[in-house]
Amino acid sequence: MAADVKAPPLRPFAEPPALVPGAMQASKPYVASAKMQEAIGFPGELTEGWEGRALDKMGELLGKYRSLRVYLDSCVHCGACTDKCHYFLGTGDPLNMPVARQDLMRSVYRRHFTLAGKLFPKLVGARDLTKDVLDQWYSYYNQCSECRRCSVFCPYGIDTAEITMAGKEIMDAAGLGQKYSNEIIGKVHRIGNNLGLPGPALADTLEGLEEDVKEETGVDVRFPLDQKGAEVLLVTPSADFFAEPHVDSLIGYAKVFHAAGVSWTLSSHASEAGNFGLFIGSYDQLRTIAMRIREAALELGVKRIVVGECGHAWRVAYSMWNTLAGIGAGGEDDFARKLQSQLDSRYKQPMHICEFTHDLIGRGALRLDREANDHRVVTFHDSCNVARASRMGDTPGGQFEIPRAIIRAVANHYVEMAPGTTHDATYCCGGGGGLLTDELLDLRVKGALPRMEALRQVADGRGVNFMATICAICKAQFTKVLPYYGFKMGMVGGVHQLVSTAIRLGEPR
Ligand code: SF4
Ligand code: SF4
Repeated sequence: MAADVKAPPLRPFAEPPALVPGAMQASKPYVASAKMQEAIGFPGELTEGWEGRALDKMGELLGKYRSLRVYLDSCVHCGACTDKCHYFLGTGDPLNMPVARQDLMRSVYRRHFTLAGKLFPKLVGARDLTKDVLDQWYSYYNQCSECRRCSVFCPYGIDTAEITMAGKEIMDAAGLGQKYSNEIIGKVHRIGNNLGLPGPALADTLEGLEEDVKEETGVDVRFPLDQKGAEVLLVTPSADFFAEPHVDSLIGYAKVFHAAGVSWTLSSHASEAGNFGLFIGSYDQLRTIAMRIREAALELGVKRIVVGECGHAWRVAYSMWNTLAGIGAGGEDDFARKLQSQLDSRYKQPMHICEFTHDLIGRGALRLDREANDHRVVTFHDSCNVARASRMGDTPGGQFEIPRAIIRAVANHYVEMAPGTTHDATYCCGGGGGLLTDELLDLRVKGALPRMEALRQVADGRGVNFMATICAICKAQFTKVLPYYGFKMGMVGGVHQLVSTAIRLGEPR
């Protein structure tokens, strides 16, 4: 643990923090180098004329996304969102109230894009886009994990996450990019995944996993790579290939495919489910990254595309792949049409690995030994992008029920955290939206406070010792911050880690 980072004391639920103006003004991520920026098509740095470039981009976004203009016009400052952001609750910095975060952009919007702001700026709280204002944007738009919790409580449904994304896109266009996200995007373009793991290293890793599972189970469970003609292409976050606890979920997926007798493959070209284009608000980046999956699917000739445990990846896959890359209905170019005729229309395209496993459990196709998880008392952390920006299954709320149904099928002891901290009101882990970087650790620890409070309640009161989640970022974030709150880092893991423990292979059903 970093000695200079301290967790705030846990509080009773819903107690607003004392205001600490400016507490987080100095918190900001490293700036992307000119080389990183230019590699993904943005100006290298803030050179002369950056203000014009920024305002041009803002005008373009206001014209392209009506929602942005509506959000900037419609806030009535009712205050309902003020205490809903985990970063405000953890830091007390008033600029981390969602409405204040929005106002950072709203003031510039008013100055440059409304008549009242042009004529009477002071009267309507309008500000020029100066370097000081831009610095404030850089700090506080990099203190929003784009989790959308505040929008659930806003009577107008104003989505601060969309404003944050626009803020990042405008800054990128001006030449001020965030190192963590933009470096990762560059790696995906060059190598195919966020971790920069090349194909041969991936093949080695998968071979090692086959040996490990053979040793554990005595069964030849395969982890195929670039297998032409496989039925399923699994697209999963690259952290699943070797990070702990992520890899245990990958082992779980492989065991499920094995038990179901479904041929599957990973792709070295599309070895990443994550799509950081979302975090920086860039449609072009979103599309270019998503295209790798379409290219891999066409190249390998698969019939189905299944997505592993990754929150924002599932949002992009479920809500956007159809128009970004022609996976699902909506794509209209030749490649999209070719892909649609190749994919098997009897299945959801794409499908979440939880939908895949849940369906098999429902059909009695898996042999499961719940008692194998009896050393665990499990709770479930809903990940923001799954909870508030996607769905699973055929009924509303499937994204909440399906992972819980799987957990109940593979573990005897399950406990819910307090209402108001789960389902669509779930608290962010504190590391989403491109903030999972070490220089923001102080923010991440503080932003995890509300989730840690809810976890402490069920750990002390009900003996919970395992928090399952279906997001690679949540897993990485919690592994890092749990010790700051007195929990063991191994307390977090994937739903398919639990499946992996319970599933019985090589035995008659
Ligand atoms: S809840 Fe909505 S309308 Fe009210 S202050 Fe927040 S963003 Fe504005
Ligand atoms: S989207 Fe999430 S992180 Fe951003 S302001 Fe709203 S609650 Fe806070």
